[in-house]
Amino acid sequence: MINLSELPIWESPWRSTGSDALLRISSSALKTLPGSCQMEKVAKAHVGKYQEARDWATRKDPRAVFLLGAVRAVLAMTRTPTDLVQIITTELGENATEPSLAAAKMMVRNALNAVDDFAADDLAEGLLMTPTTDFVCISSDQNRRLELTSWGVYYQSSDKSVRELRMFCYRDADLARDRNQLITAVNILLNGASTDGPLARWTEPYQTLPTNPPQRVRIRQIGCLDSSAATLFDGDAASAAAFVGGMPAIVQDFLTNPEFTPGNNCVECKFRISCPEITKVPGFLGLPTAGKISKSLSRAMLSSYQRCNYQYFLTYVLKLPKKTFESNAAIVRGNAVHEWIMAAHERQIACSSSDLPAAGLGAIATKLGWTQEYLAQARNWINSHIQVCPFQHAATHLLSEQTRTVWDCDADVVITTRADELGTRAGKSLWREIKTTSTMSEMTKNEYLLLYPQVAFAIGIQAAAGGGLVELEILTPETGQIVAFDAADPAIQLAATTALAINFDQLHHDEEFSASPGMACISCPVSAWCDQRASAPATKEVLVDGLEVDLVTGEIISSAPVAVDALAKALALVEPVDQTDDLPF
Ligand code: SF4
Ligand code: SF4
Ligand SMILES: [Zn+2]
Repeated sequence: MINLSELPIWESPWRSTGSDALLRISSSALKTLPGSCQMEKVAKAHVGKYQEARDWATRKDPRAVFLLGAVRAVLAMTRTPTDLVQIITTELGENATEPSLAAAKMMVRNALNAVDDFAADDLAEGLLMTPTTDFVCISSDQNRRLELTSWGVYYQSSDKSVRELRMFCYRDADLARDRNQLITAVNILLNGASTDGPLARWTEPYQTLPTNPPQRVRIRQIGCLDSSAATLFDGDAASAAAFVGGMPAIVQDFLTNPEFTPGNNCVECKFRISCPEITKVPGFLGLPTAGKISKSLSRAMLSSYQRCNYQYFLTYVLKLPKKTFESNAAIVRGNAVHEWIMAAHERQIACSSSDLPAAGLGAIATKLGWTQEYLAQARNWINSHIQVCPFQHAATHLLSEQTRTVWDCDADVVITTRADELGTRAGKSLWREIKTTSTMSEMTKNEYLLLYPQVAFAIGIQAAAGGGLVELEILTPETGQIVAFDAADPAIQLAATTALAINFDQLHHDEEFSASPGMACISCPVSAWCDQRASAPATKEVLVDGLEVDLVTGEIISSAPVAVDALAKALALVEPVDQTDDLPF
């Protein structure tokens, strides 16, 4: 039991009304995930408290439906329905698109297969588990009430001595759950009670039914893309009690001094209008309207849109599960070069040729645990970096991989970007982006901004913070080149805003998201659900006259000057595809 009088009282960072008497915390909110905003989770946990400023509701595309909701609904039924497709279709709602339906059907079928396997295992030990209403673990005193919840399908044995929670994974059941989340889920099974059904209103407390303590609790999870299954916890009441001993400290830590962490998730946060920490830059993207939906935007999203508008829609609007695939040579090389530079720059001194001896690995590659072969593919580009290392300039201090977020509240777009290197030179702010390429063609500054929109992002963010320098470091196997932009210069600011508006305008207003079947289908993370994919796309294609892309080697062969937008699409095709899944629970 958690002693509520020992828990800190949360001071809302914005003007709010309502009551803080009811706290509802889900096991997923207690995860210690890097990049997730603790302040938003704590604010949401106070379900009866409202910010006084009008909530900035997230405007979602109605076609974006919750696939795991359909999986949960079917598994929560005590008998598998015969009209499964009809149930899934109804569950997803009339706005669901064909790709969402295809994904949901496969996920439900896979989950049911895993459930059949579970049932067979259970029967072998004489157990019959049936779905039941959710469990909730309640602590209360005269002032406050704390409800701990965990999302999934709950089961009980016929004599109610065994309780189980089944969680779902988008991909496979190998997913390692956060320890706090697991402890909370076990705690809910061990010390919680069965609810009398779903809540009619979110701000009301759960009603529970009288229950006896269980003798055994179990947490299992199901991979919805491959029917895989895993048992995360299985123990008697005594071992479960020992496992959840740290529960009060987890809740205490969660509520103590919550931190703001601006990032892509701000787009779903209803507190962003009052939030003091998200940088608000109206007009950042140079777009006059708020579009139809609230959006987040990163380089990976823009690249996806450049490859195929429909790929962006399936991946980032519908949020369908992504599959994994091998990276091509250019991506592996680009990642290796970045990794080497990051490791070298931890020293805060200039890279030198002694770091990369002609024979042998050198100190940096040795520290990274590389083989000679792995270094060989990146060697020429690293050599080129050594010629233009930013630490050659005096009084330079840089940190690698720094995330920055701004909210263009006119366009209602949250932009997140990760600076390759960010810091200061002679007291002035310095941002450096590093690009590796096989050939370099001379371009104007404006063309570089169109080709590398993350440089335009950087200029906009630096300008909003009062100026500074943005450097684009372009590495080829032969040489390194620096293109410098003064973010305090109004002409550069205008060029950056124009480049962003050109890059993002079509995406911002797109509602159709047409497919471009072709070579983009080869490394398309959502092709499994796509009803438009090319059946046998070529791995090598001439995009426009004089511009050829080879997906196997990842190289762009440009034999003549071509338009920047064609080059941008070619670059997007050979760039790393974001293969991570955002797990909602
Ligand atoms: S707007 Fe972003 S930083 Fe602010 S509370 Fe919401 S998620 Fe956190
Ligand atoms: S499979 Fe091809 S057509 Fe379909 S979304 Fe992916 S890239 Fe576009
Ligand atoms: Zn360096």
